[in-house]
Amino acid sequence: MTTTPLPGHPHFALRDGELFAEHVRLQDLARDHGTPLFVYSKGAMLAALAAYQRGFAGRKAQICYAMKANSSLGVLQVFAQAGCGFDIVSGGELERALAAGAKGGDIIFSGVGKTRAEMRRALEIGIGCFNVESEAELEVLSEVAVAAGQVAPVSIRVNPDVDPKTHPYISTGLKGNKFGVAHERTVHAYQRAASLPGLKVVGIDCHIGSQITEDEPYLDAMDRVLDLVQAVEAAGIALHHIDFGGGLGINYNGDQPPAADALWAKLFAKLDARGFGDRQFMIEPGRSLIGNAGVCLTEVLYLKPGEQKNFCVVDAAMNDLPRPAMYQAYHGIVPLSRGGDQPQTYDVVGPVCESGDWIGRDRALAVKAGDLLAVLSAGAYCMSMASNYNTRGRAAEVLVDGARTYLIRERETAADQMRLERPAF
Ligand SMILES: *Cc1c(COP(=O)(O)O)cnc(C)c1O
Repeated sequence: MTTTPLPGHPHFALRDGELFAEHVRLQDLARDHGTPLFVYSKGAMLAALAAYQRGFAGRKAQICYAMKANSSLGVLQVFAQAGCGFDIVSGGELERALAAGAKGGDIIFSGVGKTRAEMRRALEIGIGCFNVESEAELEVLSEVAVAAGQVAPVSIRVNPDVDPKTHPYISTGLKGNKFGVAHERTVHAYQRAASLPGLKVVGIDCHIGSQITEDEPYLDAMDRVLDLVQAVEAAGIALHHIDFGGGLGINYNGDQPPAADALWAKLFAKLDARGFGDRQFMIEPGRSLIGNAGVCLTEVLYLKPGEQKNFCVVDAAMNDLPRPAMYQAYHGIVPLSRGGDQPQTYDVVGPVCESGDWIGRDRALAVKAGDLLAVLSAGAYCMSMASNYNTRGRAAEVLVDGARTYLIRERETAADQMRLERPAF
């Protein structure tokens, strides 16, 4: 038997020309559960987590999985059982984290628009930390905490304003976007936080963007954050932890992001040099823990040759895989079994009635109707962003662990979709 690893996808491989996740043949999963179908490898998730764990060996650190990347309960359970905390951005995510077995103290709450109700609920379950994004939010959170007879643990998310010219792909750590408290306002905001009766300052937080594939933005941001730690502590406010956010990229199309352990070796070299190496750290990785641990299986419905383009119409669509339509993102697409036909160039498109409904453009594929394809790198920001547009039920999801498979989400039916609606007449 010849085994060829799938580039960028640990625990996925071609065996004698057929694609496997761990010990499970993907054709079998498609046959048993239908398509479109998301398949996740537990081994790949744990391998991605292990790279961070190696990077933090011997340090005080907590890894909080940023669950907006993929918030399916079965996925959360894997990370909870492996000792992760969770970074949440809504009250809904809070309930999911609890349902997956997380303890309140292992959850941190990020996001620019927390409501009072979300704050109350988070206090009730003993949230580990609120990552506060504005001075207005500090005031409201203090009010809510005082009314509840509690003290809210807070970090302030700072905007390190890392130079956009050298790192244009950073999208959340710049002046002029909605996230975080401006660099210049940071000490002032901390003084305000320290003076409010309902708050207890516990840390500092930043998150500079997503799909970051180089070290430099992180090293730059770390310097800016440490400058702020010094300034805040010089003002007499102690910071117990430093939360350095998420954002590490994955290989979608030959991208070569640093490995998490290599990146953290560099970051700790800087931290040690500046005397911060023994602090308590937190990180909030999402995509890099789950993105390349998942694929989406889809069936070719029709081949539609044309004068300018050939189309390969598949049964997955922008409601299942929103990233190409949203940000022209690239996903690899490979057949589940290697065919003998001559490859042709296709745009791979879904059935949704929008020209923006495409999954891949100008792909060389040797396929015919009825063949199965895997859309790669589909673990992050696919299912969690899926919608019911065109009244398409959301896909089913399977978790693979060695030779075992778990159906972690059933395929959504039309009845499921209409359950909350009431006919007007
Ligand atoms: C989305 C998000 C993350 C995770 O980002 P990834 O690019 O998926 O690692 C972490 N922290 C915050 C505050 C986020 O909004």
